[in-house]
Amino acid sequence: MADQAYVTLATNDNYAKGAMVLGRSLRNHNTTKQLVVLIGPHVAEPCRAMLSSIYDEVCVVDILDSGDTAHLALMKRPDLGVTFTKLHCWTLTHYTKCVFMDADTLVLSNIDELFEREELSAAPDPGWPDCFNSGVFVFKPSNETYRSLMTHCTENGSFDGGDQGVLNSFFNTWSTADISKHLPFIYNLSSTAIYTYLPAFKQYGHEAKVVHFLGKVKPWSYSYDTQTGKVKGHTLTPGSGDLHPDFLVQWWNLYSSGVLPALR
Ligand code: UDP
Ligand code: MN
Repeated sequence: MADQAYVTLATNDNYAKGAMVLGRSLRNHNTTKQLVVLIGPHVAEPCRAMLSSIYDEVCVVDILDSGDTAHLALMKRPDLGVTFTKLHCWTLTHYTKCVFMDADTLVLSNIDELFEREELSAAPDPGWPDCFNSGVFVFKPSNETYRSLMTHCTENGSFDGGDQGVLNSFFNTWSTADISKHLPFIYNLSSTAIYTYLPAFKQYGHEAKVVHFLGKVKPWSYSYDTQTGKVKGHTLTPGSGDLHPDFLVQWWNLYSSGVLPALR
């Protein structure tokens, strides 16, 4: 469907690597939707070229330069730079419905059924399940919603300093109003949450459709031995913030086979 799209964001070359792997994973699972990546002005040319080969649309969003509501709002809230950039996805009004996915997510099977959901659908955050995690969400582009979000953001800031805080206070009936807007956890499985409830992961983990490498350590923070196919620097100490080794290896396999050869 040409009027529905997956959207992600990369403001720098590291997150661009994430976006490349995410895009490849969506293609590998035969999505019928358009793929859009929003990039910052600092993303380098080789990364842009690579993104253009995977995504249908690569949009440079320079909110400092745009002279619109986001620009004005950002002048008042310089702390919320990346957050404002993410909210920019609501301006993609040539699509009627979109699914936003963080650049640190990886798709494990086709998830096009998400487009049957309404705005704002998202999965619970593992740290505070009455809040949704903003790494995967269904939304409807609209300039009006965008302006309201900007105003909300400028006036109230973000209780966690990022987009998740803004979005949860804006869409504040998510946890109570409509259960169909609660995406199952398998659409946004935080790789760090696995160790907090290992029996549940053992029971349901094989159903996971999207893994989210949430937190400070990202797949691209590690290095990878192309000879052995092993991720280096992984200690596998529960609670150390380590990512789940199977998912980490899947990310790196895709990066080294589907992205690296073309980047060189
Ligand atoms: N992001 C970005 N540049 C940054 C930080 C974040 O492009 O410097 C984008 C990227 O799409 C990322 C999303 O914003 O996936 C949310 O940030 P992150 O995934 O690091 O947060 P977490 O999921 O760990 O809370
Ligand atoms: Mn993330």
